[in-house]
Amino acid sequence: MDPVTLTYNFTNDPSVFGLHQTYLCYEVEHLHNGTWVLLHQNRGFILNQASNNPGFPEGRHAELCLLDLISFWKLDLAQRYTVTCVISWSPCFSCAEKVAEFLQENPHVNLHIFAARIYGYQRGYIKGLRRLNRAGAPISIMRYSEFSYCWNTFVDHQEHPFQPWEGLHEHSQALSGRLQAILQGN
Ligand SMILES: [Zn+2]
Repeated sequence: MDPVTLTYNFTNDPSVFGLHQTYLCYEVEHLHNGTWVLLHQNRGFILNQASNNPGFPEGRHAELCLLDLISFWKLDLAQRYTVTCVISWSPCFSCAEKVAEFLQENPHVNLHIFAARIYGYQRGYIKGLRRLNRAGAPISIMRYSEFSYCWNTFVDHQEHPFQPWEGLHEHSQALSGRLQAILQGN
């Protein structure tokens, strides 16, 4: 991914509008002899498919594309895997529901989600985030460490270090507080 794609799509500045696409970066670790080992070939990024895609007339959200990928990998049912997913928008209710079902059906896969921004605060979105949390998929807000990790791992950065935008830390803290309140509520 080019540097602008990351800084534009993953910004957590609430004054930036018009971010309609969802980007999702993923990597997979495999538990081998008690140690988590990164599977380099199962690492990459995807974005949601537009609704004019002939294969999926209603489009396909990035989270569901990730589930398709995980199924496609045919991971060994007898082994354990952790998928870490860094996503620009937190999941909608429908995706949260499908991800939770997927995790119940695939106990060999753990999922950790880091979101740059919370997609919505209406009842449905809140229910979805709680559903994911109950399904054992910890969801957190991206901090400097995750932004910088994404930069270093998924961006063609030409040796330039990650430059945080103004307010990154404050926005991340505010969003974390809101997410905690959502997850702790009833
Ligand atoms: Zn969705």
